[in-house]
Amino acid sequence: MTEGNFSLVEMVSLQMNRRHSGQHDFYLSSTLKDHAKKRRMSSDIVAMDMAQPENAAFAKKSGFFISRGMAWFLLLLFVSGLLATGLLVYYYAPDPYPSSVQEKHQQETPRPGDVTSEVESPSAHRPKTTTSTSSPSTSAPPSTTTSAAPDNEEVPEEVVVERGREDVLEGEDGEEGEIMPSPDTPEEERQPTKKPNVRLPRSLKPVHYQIKLQPFVRGNFSIFGYVEIEMEVLEPTAEIVLHILNIETHNDTVKLQPADNPGHSGLKIVKHEYDHEREFYIAHLEEPLEQGQYYVLSMNFLGYLNDKLKGFYRSSYKDEEGNERWIASTQFQPTHARAAFPCFDEPGMKATFEVFLGREENMTSISNMPLAETLPLDDQEGWYWDRFNTSVPMSTYLVAFVVSDFVYLNSTTDNGTSFRVWARESVIDQAEYANDIGPKLLSYFEDYFQVPYPLPKQDMIALPNFLGGAMENWGLIIYRETSMLFDLESSAAENQRWVTLVMAHELAHQWFGNIVTPKWWDDLWLNEGFASFVQYIGMDHVQPSWKVMEQFVIDTLQSVFALDCLESSHPISLKVGDPDEISQIFDGISYNKGSSIIRMMIHFLTEASLRKGLTNYLEEFKYNNAEQDDLWKYLTMAAHEDGTLPTDLTVKTIMDTWTLQMGYPVINVTRSPDGTTATVTQERYLLNKKDSRDDSKYSWWVPLNYASQGNPNFTVTSPLVWMKDSESEITVSSLPSGDEWVIFNVQETGFYRVNYDDDNWNLIIEQLKADHEVIHTINRAQIIDDAMDLARAGHLSYEIALDIYTYLGNETEYVPWKSAVNKLESLVELFERTGGYGALQSYIKDMIVPLYESVGFEHNASDSLLTQFKRKTALSWACRLGHQDCLDNSAALYRQWMEDPQTNTISPNIKETVYCRAIEAGGDKEWEFAWNMFLETTVASETLVLLKAMGCTKKIWLLSRYLEMAFPTDRGIKLQDSEVVFSAVAKNPVGRPLAWTFLRDNWGKIYKHYGKANRRILKSVTAGFNTRQQLKEVQLFQEEHKRDLGAASRTMENAIERITNDIAWMDSNYQNIVDWLESQGYSSKVSNI
Ligand SMILES: [Zn+2]
Repeated sequence: MTEGNFSLVEMVSLQMNRRHSGQHDFYLSSTLKDHAKKRRMSSDIVAMDMAQPENAAFAKKSGFFISRGMAWFLLLLFVSGLLATGLLVYYYAPDPYPSSVQEKHQQETPRPGDVTSEVESPSAHRPKTTTSTSSPSTSAPPSTTTSAAPDNEEVPEEVVVERGREDVLEGEDGEEGEIMPSPDTPEEERQPTKKPNVRLPRSLKPVHYQIKLQPFVRGNFSIFGYVEIEMEVLEPTAEIVLHILNIETHNDTVKLQPADNPGHSGLKIVKHEYDHEREFYIAHLEEPLEQGQYYVLSMNFLGYLNDKLKGFYRSSYKDEEGNERWIASTQFQPTHARAAFPCFDEPGMKATFEVFLGREENMTSISNMPLAETLPLDDQEGWYWDRFNTSVPMSTYLVAFVVSDFVYLNSTTDNGTSFRVWARESVIDQAEYANDIGPKLLSYFEDYFQVPYPLPKQDMIALPNFLGGAMENWGLIIYRETSMLFDLESSAAENQRWVTLVMAHELAHQWFGNIVTPKWWDDLWLNEGFASFVQYIGMDHVQPSWKVMEQFVIDTLQSVFALDCLESSHPISLKVGDPDEISQIFDGISYNKGSSIIRMMIHFLTEASLRKGLTNYLEEFKYNNAEQDDLWKYLTMAAHEDGTLPTDLTVKTIMDTWTLQMGYPVINVTRSPDGTTATVTQERYLLNKKDSRDDSKYSWWVPLNYASQGNPNFTVTSPLVWMKDSESEITVSSLPSGDEWVIFNVQETGFYRVNYDDDNWNLIIEQLKADHEVIHTINRAQIIDDAMDLARAGHLSYEIALDIYTYLGNETEYVPWKSAVNKLESLVELFERTGGYGALQSYIKDMIVPLYESVGFEHNASDSLLTQFKRKTALSWACRLGHQDCLDNSAALYRQWMEDPQTNTISPNIKETVYCRAIEAGGDKEWEFAWNMFLETTVASETLVLLKAMGCTKKIWLLSRYLEMAFPTDRGIKLQDSEVVFSAVAKNPVGRPLAWTFLRDNWGKIYKHYGKANRRILKSVTAGFNTRQQLKEVQLFQEEHKRDLGAASRTMENAIERITNDIAWMDSNYQNIVDWLESQGYSSKVSNI
């Protein structure tokens, strides 16, 4: 959400309110005047300026105001004027920036706010733009009366930070479906929408910030702020352009002085401009600044601790006595530092930061750097300034502060870095695990990257309210509680794995992302992809028995395969501009495809060459910014030195084919009659090939290798042959004879699927049935996943794909099982509302029950993590398919807990299934018990399990009430949890139609709740749709809410493509599978008809 979305009605009425209330003018007021120069908005200014006193600025002005009727009249005038002239102005207005600083925006998706009929969009749901707090006065004592909350709070996005891993936590199928407009998008929607250039000019470079912030966490939530920014002049300029958002400044406090002359009375600023749409403040100077000189811009400002979990925000929790305690904390990535203090808010504009935080005596403040000193605040009893040491040069999005009454555990790494983990007092014991493995991970990464951790300390803090999974702020990593806290008694093995994974991810970022940062958000994937792969290496180091390197394929690679096989996927490397576009790329493609292709690269380069190249790259670009080509260059140099890559081949040549184009190939291996040679072709793999128009132009550099029956060596993962992007077909010779199988893509390190001729498939199936352990665990998972997906896309018969499942009776490893059930999941979803479901259910039940019996219902503390995962999978499926023993056990355990609520004997690993099935089978008593337990628990992972379980009831009225409780947030469900509630109801076959109706009926309310269209909610509610009627409804919904969808518009396109595919699938496969099940003895018919 950008402020550019306000409707004129709001703007005008805001102006009127302001005049009536006699409040100070600020920010927005002056913005309107300055809007007169904006293209596209030119006509609205005609209306605005009449309502605007001359030179409206921050000073108190008497001015005049217009009546409401007049405002509407002017508005009408504006709309008609705009219709007549707006487009002309829009296309032909000169750009205010020289071309040298322009960013080309290639995004073609229309966005709300880009069009002239904005008035019609649901402006009533959108927050307004100005605060109603009093003006700042640094000497004023803090007010303790809570003023009416201003209505310009920032609006939340759905979880964007570390989103990819959030999905892993949820155990869902993967990612937000974020997609580019497909070639099928109607032409009129593909017209390029010209957007303003949102990039800052490069004439000034920030060098150092001094930031003073006094947040009234326990008062009226206002923030008194002061900033000094020292800048170097790179090119002469008479304008200072920087970012500002939802902050009130006072023009008369803005000062510009030469850096070497602090006593200077100040250079003259002739005009203060606020570019509302681009979130800019522009100081127009009388004289241009001289190149090579340094200046300091300073100003006072007033901010507000919003409750939307981004920028500098407030949140609260209840202590053990039930008292409400307040916290002020930050979330700046990607574009919200500008909402905390005026700054050059681009990742490429690094500077050093000296932070002062004002806090009350019984609270603590922490920031990126260690505390330098604490000084009492003059004339404010009980208040102190905490001054922190100056930081290393870093990007604004990594700056962080927290003011809280939390406590900490501490330790020191081998290299002497001080390490602290913070949490609220009542749960600090759950931070012991983080305190144990955190320093180990940090030390390990120092060794892995061969670059010392550059800060003297590392703080990590677990907050009760945090929108993402965690955020890698340098030296102050902020986590959601479920991502850092782990309670051995009440958390599942999965939670421990998640905490380990997130910590490894964030700590990896301290190098990859923090020391060297992408120049611009286009290269975000590199940051996230790297951290998402290196997290496995870190995790493997601290928990070697977990075999996490094997789990990578199911968690990450196979899950993103399912997204990147859509026509409407998008390339990893994507041009982005405005905050909406930037937010969109924190998606499954960036995280999961990014890490999958990095894994592929490590295997073709070897880990030694990769680490060498990486260390050189980090050293070269330390405290600076880089692009993907810079990394490719350093990796190529290392690989050529080590001889791991042919000298005529570069990493860039290979990797460009994976990063600049979307999708991935299927490699078709067709063996000769005697088997000794094979024709190998590559083609873009699409789930629904029928609609493809342009996939022939896609091709990749593909590393090929294989193992065979005669030489079942699955350890060598380097390429035997490179298939070039110019080659659509090659011949591979020296294969074994035709009666022996071959399996390509050893350990599934290549980002591609493999299909074979039927004979080779049958040889593989024979091997699996005879002795599956000959084939590597990862390749067993690959075979299942590839075969089922190839069948789904029509490349392979279901007879062969389902025949593979028959070996699973002997399978004991978790990873192949997980691939198998993941693939069945989509089959079940497609069948769930059809007559054939009963037969499929019996077939799967017969397959799962032996696994269920082998692992047993009872938790055994001595079981390995993988056995615990297996049990969880088996129980979840057995109960879901109605296995009586599983259901009875679940109901009995839950009943026992209800009888003695203080003693919960249910193993954390099986809680999800037990709670869900007991609530499903029970009534309002079971549901209300869960609700009461939810209110009582202090363990964050337990609240998540309970929230999901309450969505399992089959009672419609309970589900309806549950949805109503989640929106708005004043009924016990936090904002960050409301999407969990909605998704839980939507996932329930009984709840899905209810959730869909609820969403449509309450769109305005839900939109307002999040401040924008929530991608996760839209994805979850459309997930099981596969009928023509549902498709129509979704299309209608998309049409009706086109203007509000914003960053979620791709999610909707993705959903529509998926539903369309599923309908086609049902038409061509449903009956075949029903017939196949019949042939296996699983009839769909009623026996006595
Ligand atoms: Zn990350």
